[in-house]
Amino acid sequence: RAKQAGRNTFRFFTAQMNVEVVARLELETALRRAVEHREFVLHYQPKVQVDSGRVCGLEALVRWERPGHGLVLPGEFIQALEDTGLIVRVGRWIVATACKQIRAWMDSPVGPRQVSINVSSRQFGEGDLEGDVIRALELNGVPPDLLELELTETSLLANTELTIACLRRLKKLGVRVSIDDFGTGYSSLAYLRRFPIDKLKIDKGFIDDVTSNPDDASIVLAIVRMARSLKLETVAEGVETTAQLAFLRRHGCDQMQGYLFSKPLAVPEVEALMLEGRTLPSPRGDGKERVR
Ligand code: C2E
Ligand code: MG
Ligand code: MG
Ligand code: MG
Repeated sequence: RAKQAGRNTFRFFTAQMNVEVVARLELETALRRAVEHREFVLHYQPKVQVDSGRVCGLEALVRWERPGHGLVLPGEFIQALEDTGLIVRVGRWIVATACKQIRAWMDSPVGPRQVSINVSSRQFGEGDLEGDVIRALELNGVPPDLLELELTETSLLANTELTIACLRRLKKLGVRVSIDDFGTGYSSLAYLRRFPIDKLKIDKGFIDDVTSNPDDASIVLAIVRMARSLKLETVAEGVETTAQLAFLRRHGCDQMQGYLFSKPLAVPEVEALMLEGRTLPSPRGDGKERVR
């Protein structure tokens, strides 16, 4: 009987696995088509200076305009792009598109804006991220310090030597480097000395309960202090409330990003926001939150 139950369980598991395998194959096929048909777009989320309340840069976030599915967020497809290696081609397109956008803003009333892009470790190993970046900057006449690369701790630790060497050269050129989702990796802090880094982005996971959970508050404080003594800038991710903002102001975090100020937006909307000169609510302001 036990054997039979075991066999049934096994059969059920296999059927379930088949469903997943088929879904995954369909996704990968659709992604290959998406690359050829250029179905990806970049949205931009403003980064805001905590003290002045002004927009100081933007993060480019990829979206997939999948026919019949509407706008698909990266959580649904980035992993598949990574696993298939398609991220190298899409990553190259992201570098090129972000640099074109920086140029377009330089030539418009918006003016020069710093833009960050998320890069995958596979772009260092298999792709030619360095060449892609240099070509895109030159082609568009974009000053390197207007481009920032966001890397996660995990991607910094994959093919380390190659990545360090590449980042060193890009940084020498003036390109900025930040560590994304800081605090979520399980690496030692030693790499903060070894890597050419400008900025730490404090993961949303620590910001969520920063005003109610003393442990999270301590971690954010420790990161901000450490960053300051290492002469690194700090950005808080996923700020949604004025209470979180007040905490960040009080403790000297440099920049914030989150729905409190703005979601990631398509180009026309984010342009409108910058032209209107929107700023963060001031500490003594009406306290009205601008969410969503
Ligand atoms: P990330 O780089 O840490 O980006 C921040 C994510 O948090 C974005 O999700 C953003 O929309 C979301 N977010 C920002 N503020 C708030 C907030 O106040 N509340 C909440 N609930 N969420 C907020 P998104 O766009 O879905 O991107 C998810 C992840 O996908 C990114 O995390 C990044 O790791 C990856 N990704 C996005 N675009 C690219 C890309 O062009 N290339 C690569 N390699 N990865 C990308
Ligand atoms: Mg990011
Ligand atoms: Mg992040
Ligand atoms: Mg994050």
